[in-house]
Amino acid sequence: MDGIGRHSPRSPAGIFQLACMTCHQESPVTDNSTTVQQDWALAHTGRHPGHRGFKLTAETYWRTVPADGNPYAEIPPPANGEQH
Ligand SMILES: [Zn+2]
Repeated sequence: MDGIGRHSPRSPAGIFQLACMTCHQESPVTDNSTTVQQDWALAHTGRHPGHRGFKLTAETYWRTVPADGNPYAEIPPPANGEQH
């Protein structure tokens, strides 16, 4: 059966960033963990006590996987960055 899953084992599980909903200042961007964003939000609220709402943006990469017997299963996936 055809399926879909993470892009590759080498790709990050997620890339994360927070933005303050009041002033739109943005946190650093990190792979695989939101620890930096949580610390950033707490420090941001510490500097701006009225700024308590944040938007988390999460970016993930997925790839479709043709099942055995699907003619597209014979076509190798492109190398990173290559376009088809
Ligand atoms: Zn703010």
